This record gives sequence, structure tokens and C-alpha cells, in this order.
Amino acid sequence: MSHDCLFCKIARHEIPAKIVHEDDEFLAFHDINPAAPVHLLLIPKHHVASLASITADDQPWLARMLQLVPELAFANGCNPLPEGGFRLVANTGTEGGQEIDHLHFHIMGGARPWSKRAAPAA
Ligand code: 5GP
Ligand code: ZN
Repeated sequence: MSHDCLFCKIARHEIPAKIVHEDDEFLAFHDINPAAPVHLLLIPKHHVASLASITADDQPWLARMLQLVPELAFANGCNPLPEGGFRLVANTGTEGGQEIDHLHFHIMGGARPWSKRAAPAA
């Protein structure tokens, strides 16, 4: 199914992004307005509105998406444990701070200090 949302367009390479990972199912790229030294966005290529629309049928690909998170974090500048690490955020819905209605994981890390926000301050 074809969608016109921003992240669907990025997934189809219709809008440029600094891509750090692409496979058949997922795309990861740098957030255009980073809230941390490392700030990646990981999306499924198919349109999913948010975590609120996940069902049992989504478990296999969602598990694969989660498995990518530490791999992408540590391959893109997040420092190793125990001193390093990363922060994973999925803003969901309006009051959850979600601005783009296509499921995305914020993967943030790097040397502190940096804000715990996962989106531009209002
Ligand atoms: P949300 O607030 O929906 O959780 O996060 C949306 C994120 O997408 C924000 O952190 C914002 O900076 C990022 N963003 C918005 N437009 C673009 C864009 O065109 N390209 C990239 N790479 N990131 C974007
Ligand atoms: Zn979409």
C-alpha cells in the first residue's frame, strides 16, 4: 500500500535522508534535528501509524526491529557499556509527543550532557 506520509517518502527515497541502514524491511537515518550527539530514527518501510496500532500479527517484524536497535546504536557512535549505552523512545499519539504519524524509534546516545527530550522543544 502506498502512503504519502513523510517517512514513507523517505523509505521510498523520494525525500533525502542521511541513511545509516537499509534492508528489505527497515530504514534507519539521522534525525534532522538531533537531540543528542547520536540521534537516529529507525522505521519500518511499510506504513504503521504508531505502536498503538500494533497487533499480535506484528510480533515477528517488531522483534526484528528491536533487535536492530543496539546494533545500530553501537555502530553509529553510541559508546559501549557500561559507561555508554543508548536511549530508545517511541513517541505515541499527540500527548505522547508524536509529530510524524509513521512508527519510528528514536535511538539516542553519545557523551553527556544532552537533554532527555526526544523531539524539538515546543
Ligand atoms: P516525533 O516527534 O514524531 O517522535 O519525532 C519526529 C522526528 O522526526 C523529530 O525528532 C524530527 O526532528 C524528525 N524529522 C522531522 N522531519 C524530518 C525529516 O525530513 N528528515 C529527518 N531525517 N528527520 C525529520
Ligand atoms: Zn508512512
